[in-house]
Amino acid sequence: MASIFSQIVAGDIPARVVYEDETTLAFLDVNPLAPGHTLVIPKEEYERLNDVPADVAADLYATLHRLVPAVEAAVDADASTVAFNNGEAAGQEVPHVHAHIVPRFTGDGGGPIHAIAGETPDLEDDDLDAIADEIDARV
Ligand code: 5GP
Repeated sequence: MASIFSQIVAGDIPARVVYEDETTLAFLDVNPLAPGHTLVIPKEEYERLNDVPADVAADLYATLHRLVPAVEAAVDADASTVAFNNGEAAGQEVPHVHAHIVPRFTGDGGGPIHAIAGETPDLEDDDLDAIADEIDARV
């Protein structure tokens, strides 16, 4: 079964499309966190960020780069939070990669991206060094 976003790409489900090119699509979130809340997706269905091929990832970033100032200007926002929920444990509900562009306004009562954490870990320098090494060994 195609994801809800693939159905939008196919035109089977209506959406307020604000930008489209060969590989990416942007449309308003049906349940906006702020006026102008926009989703940017690759048209092909990939579940997680790391599933997206590099050329499509570059297209996705190019669309984000283009859309962020347009969205902010359209709703006269002061800033925006741009984020991916990457995987179910991170809150991803639609298994089709999508970036959220959430316009932000001074004093809107929202938090920074740091607010996503539950209990923050208490890590020593040694722990941080070991984690950095583990990541470095895998890239
Ligand atoms: P997630 O939690 O997966 O990062 O976010 C999914 C987002 O997709 C939610 O913000 C939700 O409001 C939005 N969404 C879910 N279904 C639809 C839909 O059919 N149309 C549109 N435009 N947005 C949707």
